[in-house]
Amino acid sequence: MARKVCLVHYHEIGLKGKNRSTFENRLVTNLRRSLGDYPVEGVRRISGHVLVTFEGEATVEEAHAISRVPGVARVSLAYLCGLDEGEYCAAAVQALREAGDFVSFKVHARRSSTTYGLHTLDINRLVGAALCEEFPDRRVEMHKPDVTVMVVVVNGSVYVYAASEPGVGGLPVGTAGKVVTLLSSGFDSPVATWMVGRRGATCVPVHFSGRPMTPDTSEYLTQDIVRALAPSGVVGRLYVVPFGARQREISLAVPQSLRIISYRRVMFSVAERIAQLEGAKAIVTGESLGQVASQTLDNIAAVNEVVSLPVLRPLIGSDKQEIMRRAEQIGTYDISCETAPDCCTLFMPRRPETHARLDQVHEAWESFDHDAMIEELVNGIEYVDYDQCPSYRPPRMLRRRHHVLGPRSQ
Ligand code: ATP
Ligand code: MG
Repeated sequence: MARKVCLVHYHEIGLKGKNRSTFENRLVTNLRRSLGDYPVEGVRRISGHVLVTFEGEATVEEAHAISRVPGVARVSLAYLCGLDEGEYCAAAVQALREAGDFVSFKVHARRSSTTYGLHTLDINRLVGAALCEEFPDRRVEMHKPDVTVMVVVVNGSVYVYAASEPGVGGLPVGTAGKVVTLLSSGFDSPVATWMVGRRGATCVPVHFSGRPMTPDTSEYLTQDIVRALAPSGVVGRLYVVPFGARQREISLAVPQSLRIISYRRVMFSVAERIAQLEGAKAIVTGESLGQVASQTLDNIAAVNEVVSLPVLRPLIGSDKQEIMRRAEQIGTYDISCETAPDCCTLFMPRRPETHARLDQVHEAWESFDHDAMIEELVNGIEYVDYDQCPSYRPPRMLRRRHHVLGPRSQ
């Protein structure tokens, strides 16, 4: 019997014209790295698809792992056959048998080269006849059948499948440049990070912790989030900035209502410095319009003005419910349910400003030595590397590893 392989379909990459092979090669590299824990035999391009073969038969679990990699529109568990008609007809029978409950079906053949003698109409007829014989009480239906048995002829091989799992879509990570993402352990920013990663960006998250004024729980939760995102290969390195002591200084210097805006201005400035070190071209946040006090248009503007890089906010128009649903899909929901004090819960004002006036924000900003503080925070940053992101290239500087975090011992 023919053996099972995974046939990976992409959509947007197919529209890329001259750059197409760059995108395809990136997808192949990313799939190889993401499937590191599985017994992969080979990952290679075959005419409009990527073929993943395993040492044994491909399984549903492996297909699922493939479906999570950005750039994958669909993945099919297919039977890999030779050009022998008997072999691929038998595979079609088997594929249809495994397709679950169905009443109607059709066969859809495609050829990527014309060297094979049979025309697609002949293949449809041939395979259709074999299936009708095996499933006499089922109906052939050309429009909207319950199941379509695909028979794809590529370079001397025939791939037969009847079911596909949808993938996350998007573009392969590493095709859109690098971004720095502001990552807390809340629901929003992990989703925002994943979303820009799905559009092809290599993500370098930065987490501001309340250390030494709070325990380092938020740092561990953030690491768990990055590990949950790891199978998608979007994160190369996590930076951690202990911010607690500096926040205390800010809270003593500025009016209570402007504390959050002042913290955020420092966070954005540090993120921009990290972006410069990394060669990242944008900053990403999980802000959603009006969700909390700091996310009004006035306050967004008051924070945004300290940086010159573009700030991307992929969730700006999303509702919390939608964000939580996405968090469940990408595996960060349960981690974000755990609460931990981080820099944002530290020294929270009772009544934060919702519509900051810029003159007051500027006055508060000048009331402490923000340049020295930003410099000091940049010098104190720590980081952890993740090797599931093949497109990540670390900057030469910053060889110091995270000295507090490490593999969690439990
Ligand atoms: P999230 O669910 O992402 O924590 P939130 O709803 O709690 O967001 P805010 O606390 O106002 O909203 O944070 C807005 C954005 O600022 C976050 O989405 C994130 O991008 C960034 N941010 C907040 N806290 C931190 C932190 N401790 N470290 C890094 N970035 C942060
Ligand atoms: Mg938060």
